[in-house]
Amino acid sequence: MQVITAISELRSVIRAARVKQPALQVGFVPTMGFLHEGHASLLKAARDQCELVVLSIFVNPLQFGPNEDFERYPRDEKRDLAIAAEAGTDIVFMPQVAEMYPSPIRTTVSVSEVTRRLCGASRPGHFDGVATVVTKLLNMVQPDYAYFGMKDAQQVAVIEQMVQDLNIPVHIVACPTLREADGLAKSSRNVYLNEEQRAQAVQLSAALRKARSAVEESWRHLTPREVEEQVREEIARAPLADIDYVEVLDYPSLQTIDTFVSSRRVIIAVAVKFGNTRLIDNVVIPIQS
Ligand code: AMP
Repeated sequence: MQVITAISELRSVIRAARVKQPALQVGFVPTMGFLHEGHASLLKAARDQCELVVLSIFVNPLQFGPNEDFERYPRDEKRDLAIAAEAGTDIVFMPQVAEMYPSPIRTTVSVSEVTRRLCGASRPGHFDGVATVVTKLLNMVQPDYAYFGMKDAQQVAVIEQMVQDLNIPVHIVACPTLREADGLAKSSRNVYLNEEQRAQAVQLSAALRKARSAVEESWRHLTPREVEEQVREEIARAPLADIDYVEVLDYPSLQTIDTFVSSRRVIIAVAVKFGNTRLIDNVVIPIQS
């Protein structure tokens, strides 16, 4: 496994690999590090599909708001490299901020509509930061496939829209959410939770599971607003939970819906704060007759 910090070296190593093996498929997994099994599952998906697997680890300042956790975002380089190697990564690209943003950025990528609700509404500017850094990384790596987790389902919708609109030559692969044994979605931010918050955080996935069953069984007799209310009530059983949003939307358009419509997909998405820690989770459900 090669660890690279300079964009020029990243480009030349990938170019050399492509010259040596013209049919080479390059798979790319962008992350912010502090890797866990969710990230490893993306790397494994890339490993299964591609000959060259590139992982990036970069905590992107552009996607954090002024009062968010950029400065204290958890980092553990040594552990990350061990997990990356174990998952079969070929190249780890871990640039410094000055390498990615040598001067103030004057160009940003902004995706409309799919960024209007959910985290787009709660975290102004967040998806501009994500879309911009992912565009930069895709330009640097030029992968055939790029892997993203459905844990961040809105991010998947944003990236798919961007790749389509800007004709970026990459296939986006959406991978399922990996969870702890009790259902909590794995996240680098889970380490912020104290014991009591961690115990109550299980209520997010429990509420989503219950709502999924209700929608699957009775979507004809339920409205999206009623499902939102049920999820709110379930989450409110955790006294430390401070709900940011609970929304039922069409997926991947992320438009508001007033009824469930057969053969569409819906997302039930939640963001909940426990103290200063903001957790997100979701389920995407095909509406089937
Ligand atoms: P992050 O480091 O949080 O920016 O995440 C990097 C990538 O890993 C994103 O595509 C995430 O959606 C994905 N990811 C994070 N957590 C999980 C999880 N629990 N299961 C699957 N993918 C995940």
